[in-house]
Amino acid sequence: MDWQNIDIKTAFRSDTVAPDTVQNAHYIVVSDGEILGCDTHDRWQPLNDDELHWSGLTAESKHFLGWVGDAPIFALEADGDSDDPVGYQFESLWSFLNTVDIDLFYLIGRAKQIVEWFQTHRHCGQCGGETSSESSDRSRKCLDCGQMFYPRLSPSIIVCINKGEDILLARNHSWPVNRFSAVAGYLEAGESAEHALHREVFEEVGVEIDNIRYIGSQSWPFPNSLMLGFHAEYESGEIDIQEEELSDAQWFHFDALPNPPAMISISGWLINDFIERARAGTV
Ligand SMILES: [Zn+2]
Repeated sequence: MDWQNIDIKTAFRSDTVAPDTVQNAHYIVVSDGEILGCDTHDRWQPLNDDELHWSGLTAESKHFLGWVGDAPIFALEADGDSDDPVGYQFESLWSFLNTVDIDLFYLIGRAKQIVEWFQTHRHCGQCGGETSSESSDRSRKCLDCGQMFYPRLSPSIIVCINKGEDILLARNHSWPVNRFSAVAGYLEAGESAEHALHREVFEEVGVEIDNIRYIGSQSWPFPNSLMLGFHAEYESGEIDIQEEELSDAQWFHFDALPNPPAMISISGWLINDFIERARAGTV
């Protein structure tokens, strides 16, 4: 299978029920929170059966993710004490973000999230009993009390706020000096995305927003976010940053941004979308 010429976005079909007979399987190998990468990242692909056999890696668990064509795809949890196979090394998920096709990156992120969910749900959080995988869907069920556990997603909002031709960008304490991005934050239990937008923007930068418009979403597997991206218009207030989280926030003209939008992330997509509309005179 020529992975470099497969459009994973359309070719991958999610499934949870592994076939009875496994042929032509491919494995995304996860160990201690890292992914098995190869020396040539732009040619990265999951291991096939032969490569897995010769790698000498020991499987701790295996999780069916779905299909690419007629090839079943598995996330494979490898023994953390295994040596790196020759020509391969375990690497952080970040190192794949800019080096493989973005849809392949999402599949790798899926594998990592499923393995980590399995690792943290071997026992029931309610009674401590053992759990087992259900055959009909992606869930674990406590053998003692019946409690069900599903992979966790953490929804968050990210918003590009404009005031005329200016957009409001913020900088986290830990970021390099000139790196700014759109305001973002996690939803709280009981909130709608719209409610979270108003709350998070006011908490972080002290302004009120209006005319919220949903743009799109992105899986962000660090560790399990679903980013919901919006545009909003400034309504009122002066910038007043939440100093525990941010070191700076400013209005920037779309032609004078402190850093180019990083197009691998939804923040970049949102900012670029605004720039294109501003240049077209439609904001
Ligand atoms: Zn239980």
